[in-house]
Amino acid sequence: MSKAAEHCPCGLDAPYDACCGRYHAGEQAPDAVSLMRSRYTAYVLRLADYLLASWHPDTRPRELSLEEPATQRTRWLGLTVHEYHQQEDHADVRFTARYRIGGGSAVKMTEHSRFERIHGRWLYRDAR
Ligand SMILES: [Zn+2]
Repeated sequence: MSKAAEHCPCGLDAPYDACCGRYHAGEQAPDAVSLMRSRYTAYVLRLADYLLASWHPDTRPRELSLEEPATQRTRWLGLTVHEYHQQEDHADVRFTARYRIGGGSAVKMTEHSRFERIHGRWLYRDAR
């Protein structure tokens, strides 16, 4: 089965190409929650360039390696968005991502991410 025919890894009921795939292909995410979903999917698909490009220049790491030893690979299991607030060019998203590292048990990570819109484009700033 091609990637296009599958559900998007971010959990929305849409094929990848009609969901996060559009943003990975260059379309601008219309809001912070779409950007956040597309960044989750970029971690699933190991698209380091997309993650760096959607990172705020003030907090962006110089490089990002998603390479992991085979026994320690992160398998992403799902995403739940709990809350989303936007005020002008700032937005907050609270979400839980589930993953498993190697043969370990599933881990739940709840994060509160902050986003900022610069020149019409949403960027990930930081998380707490
Ligand atoms: Zn998606």
